[in-house]
Amino acid sequence: MCGITGYIGDNESASVLSAGLKNLEYRGYDSAGIALIGDDVTVHKQEGTIDGLTIPSNADATHGIGHTRWSTHGEPTDANAHPHTDCSGDVAVVHNGILANYHELKEELNGHIFESETDTEVIPHLIEEAIADGADLRAAVMRALDRLEGSFAIAATHADYEGIVAARQDSPLVIGHGDEGMYLGSDVTAFVEYTRQVSFLEDGDVAHLYDDDIEIFNDGERVTREVQTVDWDASAAGKAGHDHYMHKEIHEQPTALRQAISGRVDDLAGNASLNIDLDDGFLQTIDEIHIAACGTSYHAGLYAKELIEPLVDISVRVDLASEYEVYDGHNTQDTLVVAVTQSGETADTLSAIRRAKASGMTTFAVTNTVGSTITREVDDSLFIKAGPEIGVAATKTFVSQVTALALFATYLGRLRGTISADEGADILEDIRQLPSAVQAILDEEAQIRRLAAQYSDSKAFFFIGRGLAQPVALESALKLKEISYAHAEGFAAGELKHGPLALVTENTPVLAFLNQSAAPEETRNNVKEVESRGAPVIGLATDGADESFCKHTIDIPELGRLEPLVANVALQLFAYHVANEMGRPIDKPRNLAKSVTVG
Ligand code: GLU
Repeated sequence: MCGITGYIGDNESASVLSAGLKNLEYRGYDSAGIALIGDDVTVHKQEGTIDGLTIPSNADATHGIGHTRWSTHGEPTDANAHPHTDCSGDVAVVHNGILANYHELKEELNGHIFESETDTEVIPHLIEEAIADGADLRAAVMRALDRLEGSFAIAATHADYEGIVAARQDSPLVIGHGDEGMYLGSDVTAFVEYTRQVSFLEDGDVAHLYDDDIEIFNDGERVTREVQTVDWDASAAGKAGHDHYMHKEIHEQPTALRQAISGRVDDLAGNASLNIDLDDGFLQTIDEIHIAACGTSYHAGLYAKELIEPLVDISVRVDLASEYEVYDGHNTQDTLVVAVTQSGETADTLSAIRRAKASGMTTFAVTNTVGSTITREVDDSLFIKAGPEIGVAATKTFVSQVTALALFATYLGRLRGTISADEGADILEDIRQLPSAVQAILDEEAQIRRLAAQYSDSKAFFFIGRGLAQPVALESALKLKEISYAHAEGFAAGELKHGPLALVTENTPVLAFLNQSAAPEETRNNVKEVESRGAPVIGLATDGADESFCKHTIDIPELGRLEPLVANVALQLFAYHVANEMGRPIDKPRNLAKSVTVG
């Protein structure tokens, strides 16, 4: 996710914080800001790059906090940039992540003056209230934390209190112990040129940084966190010890998923709460959904079709955005067109949306980027909240796109009465289990790495699956070909015998999705077809199922309709390790760009 930095010590705070923000730039951001705390608090913040941020020197500043923002609530504007302050201007707060319950809190804080559309801004006002009740800064932050729901990291300061108080819940924060002060960062990069002595905060930790000391509390108890020496250089520090951003992003998926889900599950109603502005009456009466997308987002669209059609009983057409056309005579009034794009800037997807609008259709974007071009052009948007993705090959954004679309499917099904509250609750329970199911796969990385090493010099790789697993077969093949340049293809398992079987030899591993939710019986027959041609089969099988007829199996936690999505994570790791064995430049594959802004 985006970045927090903080410094308290003998050096000039403004220059340490600007250097920290510059170091955090690689994580992606749309706005930046700094608060310097001396006799009073001065805040400098604006939309755009750090280079454009003017930071007047503040000679009496003893400490400060800084932030690079990746908007989730409110567009990238100067007012929405962090730090945010309370009514008095004495409290300054930076925040990464999402506050699921900020609406209620904002209502409660009625009488306070809010100057942004962010969820963040409730925090300084909560701290202000606690201080008015007699709490000191640390106690006030703790009291505010008791009220916050969601995944986040924060840092808070007050003009009248010493130090910086920082806290983490599902979002990383690291303390740097330097000779000339204490540093705070979302990762070690923020301060790696100043110190390599670090402590990683844990969930629930509240750290109070002074210029020569630190106190950490968890659940009200004083705790200590080991001080470790990192030997990373500046570029490795950005990857938090991972060799590649892609690997880091694969491992960030449980956190990204928690962000995508946070605040969007209404247990009582068995429904997703998505704050969708599209008219409910319109969504109740549409008779068709068109999804237009490219690359990995197109595969997310195909997965969405497999979810939506049976749950909502509506026809879903999924087109590659570059191929999307609307023909005369199509009932445009009763069609919703959904664009799926990570960046919100994909040229092919934007032009598909423009064609849809020109024919009078209602448009909806599923994207990672608040304020992107697509969000300005469509009727409404749903954000996937995966945080910035640096590796060219999409990983966490695919999983988060499918999750957002699964929430949307639930919402539509409940609205149209095709799923009951109990069924809705069951689907939402699976969605809630996703982060831990993905974590269970990440914990099995060693097995996947061994398989990748064993087969990395194969002639080609085939991925087969049915139903919900078919889009994942396509996506897994795309991932492998993008980063390893190996020949990889995904097929509907039933199509093998209609042509692709001719390619199968003992030198072409077949990766087969045998998940319970993806018609495993029929796929087992296809596995036998390829095995009898000598192909080694790696089965992705529901945990506990006996798939001993496969040469290898990777166990996937049982998770209903979302199980193939979890299996995808195993194959992201497989693709990564094959490419790594081959020595490919994984984060920047040849000929590819992260966001394809040309048509
Ligand atoms: N939700 C906050 C906002 O939209 C923080 C986003 C971030 O992590 O930068 O301002």
